[in-house]
Parts: sequence; C-alpha cells; structure tokens
Amino acid sequence: MNVELISVGTELLLGSVVNTNANYLSKKCAELGLTLYYQTTVGDNYTRLTKVLEECLKRSDIVILTGGLGPTQDDMTKEAVARVLKRDLIIDQHSKDRILEYFHNKSVSLENAQITTNNWKQALTIQGSIVLDNDNGTAPGYIIEDKANNGIKSIILLPGPPSEMIPMFESSVYQYLIGLQDKVLVSKMVKICGIGEAKAETMIEDLINSQTNPTIAPYAKEGEVHFRVTASASTEEEAKQLIWPVIDELKRRFNDNIYSIDENENLEDVVIGLLKKRNMTLTTAESCTGGLLTGRIVNVAGISDVFKEGYITYASEAKMKILGVNKETIDKYGVVSKEVAIEMAEGACKASKSHASIAITGIAGPGGGSQLKPVGLVYIACKVADNIIVKEYNFKGNRQKVRGRAVVSGLDLLRRTLLNIPK
Ligand code: ATP
Repeated sequence: MNVELISVGTELLLGSVVNTNANYLSKKCAELGLTLYYQTTVGDNYTRLTKVLEECLKRSDIVILTGGLGPTQDDMTKEAVARVLKRDLIIDQHSKDRILEYFHNKSVSLENAQITTNNWKQALTIQGSIVLDNDNGTAPGYIIEDKANNGIKSIILLPGPPSEMIPMFESSVYQYLIGLQDKVLVSKMVKICGIGEAKAETMIEDLINSQTNPTIAPYAKEGEVHFRVTASASTEEEAKQLIWPVIDELKRRFNDNIYSIDENENLEDVVIGLLKKRNMTLTTAESCTGGLLTGRIVNVAGISDVFKEGYITYASEAKMKILGVNKETIDKYGVVSKEVAIEMAEGACKASKSHASIAITGIAGPGGGSQLKPVGLVYIACKVADNIIVKEYNFKGNRQKVRGRAVVSGLDLLRRTLLNIPK
C-alpha cells in the first residue's frame, strides 16, 4: 500500500520548526511495510493545501496530514480535507465534551473565558470520520475512509505538536494501519557497532539488491548502523520463517559486530546486562566526553546494582589527584595517550573498588590539535578484572560528533572485552 505525508505549517517552510513529525512518521511507515514515495510540506494556505491533497489522493492509498488542526484562523486542514472530499463539517458532541473536560482538568475557570469561540472550532468534525481523542491537547485527530474511483482511500489527520501527534499515532493510528493490510508483518532490528555505514552496506549489498520479502532497510545512528529486516506473510508464523534465515545470514556476516536484534535494546543496555551476568561493577573516567558516557550508562534502569561512582577528570591535575595518573606519564607521553588512558582506567577501578572501567582521553576540538595529535584523536582503555585493553581512534567531525563517537566506542570496547570473559 502506498502512503504519503503532508506536513502543514508555514513555520516548517520558514525553517523555524524542524519537521520531526515527517521523520517519525516515515520511520513508522517503513516499520509497517508501507511504501512511501512522497512527502510534501505546505504552508497554512487553503488553496495550496487543497491542491496538494487532490494530487496525493490520485497516487496514494493513505494520506497522513499533520498540523493545522488548532483553533485559530490559520488552522485549516480540516476545512481543506472536507472540501476535497466534498463532506460537511458538523459538530461532534463527544469532541465538545472532551474540550470542556480538558479545560476543567487544567483547573481553568470557565468564567476566565479560557475557552474561546475558536476552541469550539475543534469540536467540528468531518462528516463520516472516526474521531481520535487527543489526551495531550484539544485538537482531536480524524480518520476518514473515502470511496474513490480507484479504491478506498484513508485520510488521516493528526495534530502538529509532536507531544500530541506521537501518542495519538501510537494509541490509534498504528493499529488502524496494521488492520488495512491483509498481511502480517514481522520485523527485527539488527544493531551493529564498530563498522561504518558504507562498509556495512557493502558487506550485504547483494542481499539488499536482491531483496523482495523480507526487505532490509539501513538506518545510520551515531557510531552505529541498524538494519531493519521486515517480512510480510499471511500468518505471523510464516513471516517468522521468512525472517530468520536473513537474520542468520546477517549474523554470519557481521559476527560480534551485532550487539542486539531487539528493537528496544540499546548498546548501554547490552553492556550493563553483560556486567550483571558476571556480577561485576563498573566505573568511568572521562576527560573529553565530560560525563556523556556516564549519562548513557545511567540511562539504564536498575543501574545502581552495577554503577556506584564515576569521575570527570578534565584537567591533568584532576587525573593525577583523583585517578592517581603519574605526572611522569603525562610529561613523557602527553595527556592524550595510550599510557594515560591505561592509568586512568586502572586508577578509576582502584578509587571506586569496581571490577571494570572505561577511560576516555582525547582531543574533541575545534582547537588543541597538532600534526602529531590531531583533533579527533581519542584513546579509550577498558579494564575488566585483570585484563586491560586500550585502543586508538581517529574520529571525524565536530566537537559533539567526536564526543558522541567516543562514548559509543567506549561502550563497544567494553562489550567486546566482556564477551571474551566467561560468565
Ligand atoms: P495546535 O492545537 O497546537 O494549534 P495544530 O494541529 O494546529 O495544533 P500547528 O498549529 O500546525 O498544529 O502546529 C503547532 C506547533 O506544533 C508548531 O508551532 C510546531 O511547534 C509543532 N509542529 C507542527 N508541525 C510539526 C512538524 N511537522 N514537526 C515538528 N513539529 C511540528
């Protein structure tokens, strides 16, 4: 089935708001196995919006519009859709009650005239539509099924603010879209670390080029590559039978570069899981990442079993004072060096009495680089029990990129080190 997105809002065209809705919905449509060829952004202009919608309905089975459902004059999505579908706008009592309830829940006194005449505009519904409740705002969403010459078209209207649009999509629209398809979809996300996007794609180019069912779609994330493998079949069992041989082939090609095939599992979850299985505690010693690594680790629920304390030792003095790094080592090799990274990892374990540590020292830029030690040079050391491993990295990109890549690489280095240690 073909799906198409229309993002409504002049602020999107002016560049004052980033179109994150289109980004989110595109990903969801891919996840659902829907084909998406077009996305359009149109300003708050009735004529242009109706024109765009007419075009979309000629070529797509499903059209999802976001934005322009609010109470003001420049919100006209509903009016434009009603016009194109030749339907009336009628008052929906349920929506009216919900608006009242919303304002009451917000402890707004009605006498305060917080509910304006404009607000009641949001109780107008397109005749024959399914109204989607908005639990985070006043603008309801709508699903309209319209019989056209070339089949039934679904037109879905969602509010613009992502905090309203995403919960509405997840609570009602996702299931609706699944129901439109006569096939069951099963998908798995193969998450890879330690190989660049271009190389990873080349390694499975033959699979990508010959794909039909299952499909393989790549996604690049900071320092990671993800491949979504989606199979479509008449039953879940059949879809699973199609998907597993492809997953096995990816496992064969990428080996331990794959850290998870679970959609909801992040790199830090995997690392903490490996530590828990080995009854080990972890500490961090960060210089150029300045707490970013620790932040990622503390994202994991139940982390207190594993992580007691971490150190941000930005200045050389701090590395010496807190981690016991030797002044001679710094003088001889420089603060960004393998030797200092190793002493940081050892010192952090000693100071916190932890079994394992990740230590990072590097040049994030934009200044501070030299010919010998350029911006992006980072050393990461991991200590696990009596094993210590240190690696040199040369990251490209700006300060934030270098810091982000260092965090991912640190977690990945520890993951690989732990995999070599029996449970
Ligand atoms: P409201 O009831 O808040 O008026 P609405 O459906 O009318 O909802 P808009 O007025 O079009 O939505 O947009 C409200 C705000 O939502 C925008 O100012 C912007 O911050 C955010 N928004 C709208 N569309 C998008 C989008 N495509 N991506 C990200 N944010 C968006």
